Amino acid sequence: MPELNLKASTGLVEGVSNEVFLITTGFVVFLITLFVKFKSWVGSPRTALIHPESETAVTAIRQRLEPRSSASRDSTAQCPVCLDSVQYGLETNCGHLFCGSCIITYWQTGRWLGPIACPNCRQTVTILLNSFTAEELQEDSEAKNRVLQEVRNYNRRFSGEPRTIWEYIQDLPTIFRHAIGDLFSEEGMVFVFRARIYICLTIAVLYLLSPLDIIPEMAVGILGLLDDLVILFLLALYISMIYRSVVAQRASATLNPHED
Ligand SMILES: [Zn+2]
Ligand SMILES: [Zn+2]
Repeated sequence: MPELNLKASTGLVEGVSNEVFLITTGFVVFLITLFVKFKSWVGSPRTALIHPESETAVTAIRQRLEPRSSASRDSTAQCPVCLDSVQYGLETNCGHLFCGSCIITYWQTGRWLGPIACPNCRQTVTILLNSFTAEELQEDSEAKNRVLQEVRNYNRRFSGEPRTIWEYIQDLPTIFRHAIGDLFSEEGMVFVFRARIYICLTIAVLYLLSPLDIIPEMAVGILGLLDDLVILFLLALYISMIYRSVVAQRASATLNPHED
């Protein structure tokens, strides 16, 4: 019996109860997993294989496409539709990259009643984001203007589709990356949106730095960071929602060029 008592009083780590130790370890592992996952999401647009259900539609498009003569593009990203290097790249909200003309042809030749399903992952494409190279941004060609026009056309129709909170979370890495990119790009955005995003970022920094926390770091160690993460996550989600309205606003601005 005394042996049992001794066992019960000895924790895995001296001075810390087993429960606290296990919860903390579990939480750290969870954070690392989340970080690794998020990093691979945020990293860059993904190019992947075609989803089996999109195979027929994509094969049909491949036969339509004219072979491309110039292979001047420096990017190594490959378009999963034409299997050539990406030209006038468009990124879907699910983070998949295609040539502008490929994804537009996929939309226009398919029998879609609403927004298209991503050829890669079948997720509903509610927004198409420009992912042009620096070179392409400078260019002024008919092909490029056609892509830009069709993108606005697409976004005007579908960026307002009702979305679940889970879909917002899934799209967060891609949308957030474009939001921050546009914030510092020449293309810019309307002052009101820019100001709102700056306010969000400022709040995030202030909250991280301020000693006023919902759960103080000092008291419970690593668990105290949880509330900071939640706040940062909510702010990122809010920024991605603002950015969606930026894109929608851009699309409709070209419809009524004289309205502000
Ligand atoms: Zn392509
Ligand atoms: Zn996708």
